[in-house]
This record gives sequence, structure tokens and C-alpha cells, in this order.
Amino acid sequence: MTGELMSVLSPHRRRPQLSPLEPSRLEITRNTAPATPPPSQTLVFGHTFTDHMLTIPWDAVSGWGTPQIKPYGPLQLEPSATVLHYAQTLFEGMKAYRDEAGNVTLFRPDMNMKRMNNSARRIALPTFNGDALLDLIKQLVRIDKHWIPKEPGHSLYVRPTLIGNQKAIGVGPPNEALLFVILSPVGPYYPSGFKPVALYGTTEFVRAAPGGTGAFKLGVNYAPGVLPQKSAAALGYSQNLWLHGPEHHLTEVTEVRPFRCWTPRRLTVSAATELVTPPLDGMILPGVTRDSVLALAREHASGKKRLPNLADKLIISERGVTMKEVKAAAAAGRLVEMFGAGTAAVISPVDRIGYMGEDVHIPTGEDGMGPVSRPIWTELVGRQWGAIASEWSVPV
Ligand SMILES: *Cc1c(COP(=O)(O)O)cnc(C)c1O
Repeated sequence: MTGELMSVLSPHRRRPQLSPLEPSRLEITRNTAPATPPPSQTLVFGHTFTDHMLTIPWDAVSGWGTPQIKPYGPLQLEPSATVLHYAQTLFEGMKAYRDEAGNVTLFRPDMNMKRMNNSARRIALPTFNGDALLDLIKQLVRIDKHWIPKEPGHSLYVRPTLIGNQKAIGVGPPNEALLFVILSPVGPYYPSGFKPVALYGTTEFVRAAPGGTGAFKLGVNYAPGVLPQKSAAALGYSQNLWLHGPEHHLTEVTEVRPFRCWTPRRLTVSAATELVTPPLDGMILPGVTRDSVLALAREHASGKKRLPNLADKLIISERGVTMKEVKAAAAAGRLVEMFGAGTAAVISPVDRIGYMGEDVHIPTGEDGMGPVSRPIWTELVGRQWGAIASEWSVPV
């Protein structure tokens, strides 16, 4: 082959170098009319936002653009923006906590960065260096950290979002995207003690299916849950318990507002207690709280770090659980408790599941929590608010 022909076949066209996400390019425009944070007892989840937000544009020609921290305010979008037509949007949810000494921390934020990139990959939005975004998020939180209410149990909810905002309709990888991060001060999920929730085991709607998008934090997973949520509420239940397949395997619980995943429950098998949660089979969102609950339970079971008041013999299983098994265990008095886990509520006890026309009753402890969730919750919350030192807590 002649050199000439070679150059026609492989013209060495240089791909333009796409810029990575670069924190050192950050531009900060201070809000000249900062708001006064409202009294903490008036806070409603997700209704109040701080003075600033972070935005980072991306386009297919140059890559990530200039990160900006600027006054919180409306975005400008063309009506043709693909996010508005094809749900090219994904998000994350994490919290910034303030400990007793006044230090601000994030809880395992590297996991949120990884999950956000996984979500981006799944819908062909651009990925980014997670450490770089975390650096920028910390700078944003530092600027607005006085918005974290001083009262115990309060925190700052951090909502990173990535959208496709190509200005031309057509389904494909967008040639423009926008990553933004907003902050919302929030109070404790349970201001006056744990309130167990009643779930509706829904057999008429599906949240996720094998090969679908249930394992990713995509906007597209949530709008279809609103109608089933309304139906469950009309029947007197607070949430849907999403079931899968002919055997009605338990998958997860998703609230429309603060998200909450269905997590472990416990059965007594011989002399041991089993903490069971469905496996990450592509239909379950890999929750940071779920992972933390499992890690703490495993540390306890292995003797690495014993949790006070937790059963000595604890078996931890990630395996399928059917409604038939739950009903049988409840009927035999072997069901110890059931709970969900997520950033918003940390642990949510369940006291009842409506299923095929009847209620399955689940035991709850005096204060709503059970003998497994209580010690795990205590350790988890201790690590989140800094009362218990751990490497999960990352200084801002
Ligand atoms: C965000 C979310 C959760 C909770 O995940 P955490 O990382 O623990 O906050 C659970 N289930 C679904 C469907 C979610 O979107």
C-alpha cells in the first residue's frame, strides 16, 4: 500500500481534545442580595434553596466548560432542549452535615460521584472526573455553609443534576449538556420520633425490569411512579412497595419526594437473625445508605466492630425475597422487623404491607424502630453527624 493511499484511508484526523472538568477554572460571582435563611422549623423538604448554585456547561466540541458559582436562579433553556422531550436528566442526592465542633462534612460523597457517572453513561450524557466535581461541590457548600441549620438533625441537601440541553429535537447523544448543583437546607425526616410507614405491595404497576434503568438515578424512573403513589395514598398507604415478577419479589420503595430505598428486613432462622435485602440485580438503585447498613452489619457479624445491643448471631444475605416468604414469616411470628434506608430518612421502619387485598402486619419496636435497625441507625447517624469518627465522613 502506498503512503498516499494509507493517508486517505487513515487521514490522521486529529480528534479535538475535549477539556476535562477543571476546578481551577472556577469563576465565582457572589450573590449581592443574599437571603436570610428561614427559621429551621419552617423548612419543608426541597422548598428552600441557598444563595448560590454551581453550573458547568459541556459541549461535544470542547468538552467541559468554565465552572461557575453564581446566584441561585432560573436556567435558560430553549423549548427544543432535549431534556424537555426525552428525559435526558439524572440526579444525585447527598447531605452536608455540621458536627458539634462546627465542621462541615459530606458522607461518602465518592459513591455519589461514581453513581452519577454511571447514570450519565447509561443515557449517553457526558461523564466527568468525580474528584473534580466533588472539589467544586465543596467550594459551593463552603460558600453557603451558614445555611445548614444549627439545630440537631438538620443538614444541607445537595442536589447535583445533569441534563442534555441540545437545542434541536432528535433522540441521540446531545451535543450540549449542563451540570448544575443546588443546595437545600432540610430538617430531620422524623422530627418527633420514628413513624413506621404502611406500604402498598403494588401488583399493577412496574418500577423497573431486568435490563431497564432501575439501577440508575435517572429522572425517567420517577414520573411514572407518581400515579401509583396517588393510588396507594387513596387506599391509605404511604408508599408503593415495588414487586417484581410472577412470584412478587420485593424490590424497593420509592417515595416521590425524598427518595428512600427499600432495604433489609430480618427473619429468624434457627438461633440466628438474618438481615435480608434484595441483591443489586439491575432493578435496585445501589443506595449509599443501603451499602452503609450492609457494611456496618457485616463489620458487626465479623466481630470487626461490634454494635451495642445488636444480635450476636447475625447472618447478612443479599438474596431474593418473595411476598409469599414475607407472609409466611409474619404468620409464623418469625419476622422481626422491616425497614427501608436512604439519605433522606436514613432508616424508615415499616409496620404494614397491603398485599392482594389483605394487610401483612410487621412488628415494630416501642419507638418505631426494631432491634436490628436501632443499633445500625445509631452507628450510622453517629458517623454522619461526626459523633463517631469514621473515614466515611469527608471534611468540606
Ligand atoms: C436515591 C434513591 C435511593 C436512596 O439512595 P441513597 O444513596 O441511600 O440516598 C433509593 N432508591 C431510589 C430509587 C433512589 O432514587
